[in-house]
Amino acid sequence: MLSDEAKRKRAIRIIKILEQATRSMVEPAAVTIVKKYGRNPYLVLISCLLSLRAKDTASLPVSIELFKHAKTPQEMVQLHQARIEKIIYSVGYYRNKAKQIKEVSKELIERFDGIVPNTYADLISIKGVGPKTANLVMAEGFGEPALIVDIHVHRISNRLGLIKTKTPEETQIALETILPPTYWTLYSRLMVVWGQNVCVSISPFCSKCPLFDDCKRVGVTRSR
Ligand code: SF4
Repeated sequence: MLSDEAKRKRAIRIIKILEQATRSMVEPAAVTIVKKYGRNPYLVLISCLLSLRAKDTASLPVSIELFKHAKTPQEMVQLHQARIEKIIYSVGYYRNKAKQIKEVSKELIERFDGIVPNTYADLISIKGVGPKTANLVMAEGFGEPALIVDIHVHRISNRLGLIKTKTPEETQIALETILPPTYWTLYSRLMVVWGQNVCVSISPFCSKCPLFDDCKRVGVTRSR
């Protein structure tokens, strides 16, 4: 059983290896959005809602297309839902997502004067905004340290044997205990990229993984 200090050192060692290994890989969609539009919490929020249950490769171009028509809650509520549906048609669950984008924008105007709130508690109080979205907005929209626990972060952290958790909520708490806040956002980004390219859900590419010697491969029954 490793001490907390040993776990911390191991997690930071993994981060350093993945920083090198992911250099030529496509960055998470939220990072691209920030590079393209600057730190704009509203655009990060909307692009995150569009990306739920969709691949970044599908949702990113759709987000960019939508932002040609509306970049603020005020502009978004002016768009008819059918128009939003047409713009975002190629991403999954487009009807639900168009409705949600309209409702979130309306709530932002009614409760927050059209400005995305900068606290986790306020963000999570918005209907349709869950922990992952709220943390993503805190991290990429406001530049605050936040762990964005999506399915990749949960899966890979457990496979590595860094933590032993059953739910993303447990993973959030366990990782916050191990990692200093300065690493939270970076760790989340790296795990997303690693999960999309190497440590995929079914049959990960262990044979070409630089973490192989330090990975416990918990639950991995088949790999390439
Ligand atoms: S060795 Fe395999 S299970 Fe471990 S992190 Fe790499 S790809 Fe994932």
